[in-house]
Amino acid sequence: MLKVIFFQAHPDDLEFYCGHLMHYLASKSQYIVKIASLTKGEFGLPGAQYDKFKGKVLAKIRTQEVVNALKLHGIPSQNIEFFGYIDGFVEFNRELVDHISNYLQKEKPAIIFAPEPLYTFYYHKDHINIGKAVFYVVFNQLIDFIPTLYFYSSLQSNFYFGFRKKDIQLTRKLIACHKTQAWLMSPLMMSYKPMMRLYGRKLRKWKYAEGYRRVFFHFPEKNKPSLFARILSHFFYSHPQWYQAKYPQNVLEKLKKSKKL
Ligand SMILES: [Zn+2]
Repeated sequence: MLKVIFFQAHPDDLEFYCGHLMHYLASKSQYIVKIASLTKGEFGLPGAQYDKFKGKVLAKIRTQEVVNALKLHGIPSQNIEFFGYIDGFVEFNRELVDHISNYLQKEKPAIIFAPEPLYTFYYHKDHINIGKAVFYVVFNQLIDFIPTLYFYSSLQSNFYFGFRKKDIQLTRKLIACHKTQAWLMSPLMMSYKPMMRLYGRKLRKWKYAEGYRRVFFHFPEKNKPSLFARILSHFFYSHPQWYQAKYPQNVLEKLKKSKKL
């Protein structure tokens, strides 16, 4: 059995980027699919009018939403592990690196998927720091095995997983599980089809595809970004406000007092 671990910052992250590949792997008996969710997305609602739901209430709802989505893949709810970080405050530090390396040492996955930390169109701090930490752990051999590492949401894809046009229905179903995120997912869904079509052009047999970047540890020259990836990532990097969530003031103060910030 080959173990595959998907890291995500928030409960809905994998649906857009990895839904089809996860579905395929979960349907094959030779793979065991696990999900490492660093936060429960407890601040993922726009505007002050939702402040009373942010925190524990939203965390509980979103945990159920991701469990419902996993059911569509046939992945049991015990295969998801929540790391307990706070949505919007995942820092790249010793604690995160140790947490991830201990987890990977225990699980020993053959393949890892994580958010792209370098050449990405999604500059959310949580995403970037998780990708960085996973890379750091594998690159510095803090674990006693060498897994294959792929990044999703990358501008420098070099591996494609194809699917049919009618399979987009699966993505719609997965996204529908995340009811609290409809405000964000519905507009994003408009870009989904053209993006997957673009990736699909890389494959002969499939019209649509998910794009991933495999990290080549033994051939560093293969990791070099294209000019396109460099320019675009710089563009997204200069607009971090697009990815900043709005946190209720009282929560921020409480967190500061508890020294969690
Ligand atoms: Zn996210």
